[in-house]
Amino acid sequence: MSKVAHYLQEHLLGEVSTSPDARRYFSTDNSIFTITPSIIVYPRNEHDIRKTARFAWQLAERGRFIPITARGAGTDFSGGCLGEGIVLAFPAHMNRIILLDQKTGTIMVEPGLNYGRLQQTLHTHERFLPPYPASLEYSTVGGAVGNNAAGEKSLKYGPTGNFVSSLRVVLSNGEVIETKRLSKRELNKKLGLTTFEGEIYRQLDKLIEEHRHQLDTFDLNVARNTAGYNLGAVKNGDGSFDLTPLFVGSQGTLGIISEITLETESFNPETTLLSACFETYESATEAILELRKLPHMPSMIEMVDSTLLTIVDSLNPNQLKKSITKPYPKVFLLVEFDDTGERTRKRAVRRACDIFERLAISYTEASSKQDQDKLWKIRHASANLLAHSEQQNKAVPGVEDAIVPVDKLPELLLAVQHVGKTIGQPIAIWGHAGEGNVHIHPYFDLSKLGDKQLLFKVWREFYDQVQALGGSSSASYNDGRIRGAYLPRQYGETGYTLLAQVKKIFDPYNIMNPGVKIGVDLEALKPNIRTHYSLEHLYNHMPRS
Ligand SMILES: Cc1cc2nc3c(=O)[nH]c(=O)nc-3n(C[C@H](O)[C@H](O)[C@H](O)COP(=O)(O)OP(=O)(O)OC[C@H]3O[C@@H](n4cnc5c(N)ncnc54)[C@H](O)[C@@H]3O)c2cc1C
Repeated sequence: MSKVAHYLQEHLLGEVSTSPDARRYFSTDNSIFTITPSIIVYPRNEHDIRKTARFAWQLAERGRFIPITARGAGTDFSGGCLGEGIVLAFPAHMNRIILLDQKTGTIMVEPGLNYGRLQQTLHTHERFLPPYPASLEYSTVGGAVGNNAAGEKSLKYGPTGNFVSSLRVVLSNGEVIETKRLSKRELNKKLGLTTFEGEIYRQLDKLIEEHRHQLDTFDLNVARNTAGYNLGAVKNGDGSFDLTPLFVGSQGTLGIISEITLETESFNPETTLLSACFETYESATEAILELRKLPHMPSMIEMVDSTLLTIVDSLNPNQLKKSITKPYPKVFLLVEFDDTGERTRKRAVRRACDIFERLAISYTEASSKQDQDKLWKIRHASANLLAHSEQQNKAVPGVEDAIVPVDKLPELLLAVQHVGKTIGQPIAIWGHAGEGNVHIHPYFDLSKLGDKQLLFKVWREFYDQVQALGGSSSASYNDGRIRGAYLPRQYGETGYTLLAQVKKIFDPYNIMNPGVKIGVDLEALKPNIRTHYSLEHLYNHMPRS
């Protein structure tokens, strides 16, 4: 055991491991990268995180840098929870629901809590957390906050950040702060603090005031965006100030979250699901734009395309037999309404059906659980693609997440076709069409140099197109170690410099998950690309996507 590990074990309540097996386990997430940490810490409480951060800070003051990476369940596609220093593994101990206020639905939780477990608990109180990711059964709430995760219901309810009301965060020097929206008066108090927290408030406030005009460049016309930091949401026009939106989606690069307070929604298991089939991207987009204008917005508009259905059918001819007939439509949409009031829901459904009839689109309506499950089978068929492999050919992430203004959806789908032409394979598309957000996982053999080069070629071309359409390279899967490299192109060099300044304010020694989001060097990372990609952390689950 190294001296650092010894020191930590002596001072922490939680376990410290340098076992090669543990280090190997934590050397991968669901990204294409592998980075072996030197030490794994299983914190038992906030004090353990503070001590670890304080120790790393003191070493950094003496010129020795040991990075700290927070980790939930490690399902990140972007390499965001990999690091070569200390990995703080939260699910082992810091996994409790601290408080559930049954009157308001407010919950306070530790970051390592399994998202699915939380959702089940909330359901028993007729509440739920709407932006749940498809990976909820095997991921944590801390990871969802770290990534600002979003899911099928985010069309109506927005991403995770919309539900986080406050956080407890361990700063890079080991100090603990609590974030929430502060009035102008409360902000002034913070500005007067002589601590690191005070320094952060002073520097950040100055940065925001000096670059007000530039903050607009971060404001893309898209439903959600996790590229960079959400700097624009910190200071409001009334002078109120909140660090919460900065930490949400910051992938542990600004501080370590030790406690999360979230608001929840009332849960209505009674929903109505419509399915509709389209022969062109344009007609599907026209319908989506109309549906979005309804006075009662659908709770989701999800898509799969004909390529996905065709591939799944060829892999398993029985999978979709009872759910959808051939020939497959170019775009298959699922539209859900979850309004609590039955009359409101019925009216919204009627209006949606009117839209389909006006556009001469064939559609079905499903209210029973059994009929809905059949339709969901079609949307969840994307999981077959993720889990499928042929020798070393795997569905790998890299260009898996992109979002554009909804009216640009046809162009985005064409950009995907272009990727397919470049790599010589049909590409299946699925995702949150109602928000202009699609996912793709083309097949590559990462043990072949040619395939790696091809992945990087299409990566650049694809995200250039996404940007040209006014979109973002990161909708909800975040920047991590891959899309972080695109940030200077996404926001321009000056925008990127501003983001780097934010990072520097919170983490002057660059010990909080360095190489994620800011300072990403894809060239230097090439040796860290896994030659044998696999979703091995998910083997005891059937992944959804
Ligand atoms: C099959 C599949 C489907 C997916 N579907 C979705 C989806 O629908 N929507 C979506 O948004 N994502 C999705 N994801 C991506 C990922 O699962 C989610 O973002 C998930 O919320 C991450 O949770 P985790 O516990 O695995 O976090 P991790 O992967 O462990 O961490 C994610 C990030 O959060 C940071 N982090 C973790 N804990 C803390 C903490 N305490 N303090 C500060 N930072 C922290 C990490 O450093 C890392 O940068 C999917 C992934 C897979 C494999």
